[in-house]
Amino acid sequence: MIPFPQEKNRRILILDDTEMIHKDFRSVLDGNSRLLDTDALDQAEAVILGRTPTVEYKEAFELDFAFQGQEGLEMVQRALKEHRPYAMAFVDVRMPPGWDGIETIQRIWQVDPELQMVICTAYSDYSLKEILKKLGKTEKLLILKKPFDAIEVYQLAIAITEKWSLSRRARMKQEELESLVEKQTLRLRQALEEARSANEAKGRFLANMSHEIRTPMNAIIGFGEMLSAEAEFTPTQKQYMDIICMAGKNLLTIMDDLLDFSRIEAGKLHVKIVECSMREMIENLNLLLRPSAQSKGITFEVITADNLPAAMQTDPIRVRQCLINLVNNAIKFTETGRITIKISLVEDDTEIPRSVRFDVEDTGIGIEQEKLERIFEAFAQADAETTRKFGGTGLGLAITRQLVGLLGGTISVTSRPGEGSTFSILLPVDFEGTSQADSSPSRVELTEYPKENEANSVFDADILVAEDSPTNQVLIKALLEHMGMRVTLTQNGQEALAAARDRHFDLVFMDIQMPVMNGYEATRRIRDVKPDMPVIALTANAMVGDPEKCYQAGARGFLPKPIDREQLIRILRKYLSADRQRQANSVAQSVSE
Ligand code: ADP
Repeated sequence: MIPFPQEKNRRILILDDTEMIHKDFRSVLDGNSRLLDTDALDQAEAVILGRTPTVEYKEAFELDFAFQGQEGLEMVQRALKEHRPYAMAFVDVRMPPGWDGIETIQRIWQVDPELQMVICTAYSDYSLKEILKKLGKTEKLLILKKPFDAIEVYQLAIAITEKWSLSRRARMKQEELESLVEKQTLRLRQALEEARSANEAKGRFLANMSHEIRTPMNAIIGFGEMLSAEAEFTPTQKQYMDIICMAGKNLLTIMDDLLDFSRIEAGKLHVKIVECSMREMIENLNLLLRPSAQSKGITFEVITADNLPAAMQTDPIRVRQCLINLVNNAIKFTETGRITIKISLVEDDTEIPRSVRFDVEDTGIGIEQEKLERIFEAFAQADAETTRKFGGTGLGLAITRQLVGLLGGTISVTSRPGEGSTFSILLPVDFEGTSQADSSPSRVELTEYPKENEANSVFDADILVAEDSPTNQVLIKALLEHMGMRVTLTQNGQEALAAARDRHFDLVFMDIQMPVMNGYEATRRIRDVKPDMPVIALTANAMVGDPEKCYQAGARGFLPKPIDREQLIRILRKYLSADRQRQANSVAQSVSE
C-alpha cells in the first residue's frame, strides 16, 4: 500500500465536461471561496451536529478538475505516483466526446481501487440498475442525482473523504498487524525448526552414545562373567570379578535411565499395551526382585489379594521397570527389616473404575514430609548427604511417574522418617488410553525364567555369527565355544549371507550395525533363502523400536548387548532344535563321566 501521511486526505477530483459545473463545485467545496451559501450550511450543520452554527467554519478541500475521463485517469495515476492519492471523485455520467462516467470509473478503479466515487447523473441518464450492473455493488460508489444541492455535496465530501482516511488507517493498521503476525509466525516456525533439528541431533547423539558405550560394556561384562565362571580363581579374585561385573551392570542401568529420561523429554517414550497374565507378572516380579533384597539380608515378601483379576491390559515391561525402580530404592534406603510388595484390586473410590494397586513398603530411612513431592522431579533427591551415601541419579522416580502416567495410572507415597516409606502405584485393569498396542513378538522376551543351570549349558550346534567389532567377535566366539558350539565368524551381513547360502547353521547371531550390508538387510535375505534358519538380532543400540525393526526384518529373537550370559543360554535353549539339546545333555554327561 502507498504510504500516506496521518493527516486527513481532502483531495477531490471533479470530472465533468462543463466549465460551469467545475465552478459550482468550487463554490461549494473550496475553502477559500466566498460563494458558499453560509446560511444554508450553517443550518445544515446545526441539524447534523446539534450545535449552534458558526458561520466562519468551513472545511477546506483540495480540488482538481478534469473535463474528460482520459484526462481524469492520468491525474489519478499522477497523484498515485506522487503518493498523494485522491480520496474521492465526482464523476459526471455524460462527458462527450470521450469515455462516459461509467467507463471512466471502471478504468480509474483499475489503477486506484480505493478511490471513492460519486457518480453524478440526471434522471434521463442510465438507470440505477444499469449503473450497478456495470460497476458492481460496492460501498465505494454513491449516486448523486442532478440538480445538486450544495449542502448535500458538501456533506458528501466531508463524509466520504473522512471514510477514505478512516478505512485507509484501518487497513494500514491491519496490514501492520498482519505483517507483525507474519514475522512472529516466521520467527516461531524458525524456532520450532531449530528445536526440532536440535532434538533430532540429540536423538541421534543418544543412539550413537548408547551404541558406543554398550559396545565396550559388552566386552567388560561379557568377559567378566566368563571369568567369574572359571573355577581356578581364588575367592578374592572371584570377588573382584563379581564387583567388576556388578559395577558394569550398574553403569548400564544409569545409562538406560538417562536414555529413558531423554526419550520422555523428547516425547518419544511409548508404552505397548498387551493383555498379560497377572500370575505370570507376579511370579516374574518375585523371581527378579527377591535375590537383590535377600542379598542385603532384608526380608522380601509379595502379598497378593485373593480377588485379583486373572489378566490386565498393560505394558508388562514398563510395569516391571517401575516396580524394579521402587524396589531398588527400597533396598537402597533400607538397612534392616523387610520389603513388602502388596498387590490388590481397587474397585471403588478412584477415577479409574477397576485398578490394580501395587504397594512397595519398606522399613528404611523414610523421607521428610516437605520433601515428598519434590522427589518425583527429575534429578531431585531428598538430601545431598543420602545421595553421597547411597548414590543414584535422581531420575528413577521421575521416570517411574512418567511411565505410570503413560500407563493411565497414578503414583503416590507416604513416609515417616526413620520408620519407612510406602510407594503406591495404581494401574487400570482395562487400559483405555491410546496405545501402540500391536501383536509384536517383543512379548516373547517378557518372561523371566528361573536361573539357568550353567553346568548343563553345553550345546552341540553350528553357529554363524555376523559381527564387525573385533572385541565382540572374540567375546561371542569365546562364549559360544565355551558351551561346546562350533562358531563361524563373518565380518558383515554380506559375508554372513554368503555363508548361510553355502551350508547349514543351527542358529545365526546377527549384529545390526555393520558395514557393507547391515543386519536388517542380511536377516531379510537369509530368511528368503533359508527360511528355517533362525536369526537372532544382536544390537548395542537400545533405542525404542529396535526390537520391532529386527522382528520385521524376520529375526526370531533379540539379544541386546552387552550380552547377558543367562539370556544367551535361554535363547539357545529356545531356538536350538530338541536333538541338539538332547545331544547337548549327552555331551554334558559324557564330559562329566
Ligand atoms: P535416585 O534413587 O537415583 O537418587 P530416585 O528418583 O529414584 O533417584 O529417588 C529420588 C530420591 O527420593 C532419592 O534420592 C531418595 O532421597 C528418595 N527416595 C526414593 N525412594 C526412597 C525410599 N524407599 N526410602 C527413602 N528415600 C527414598
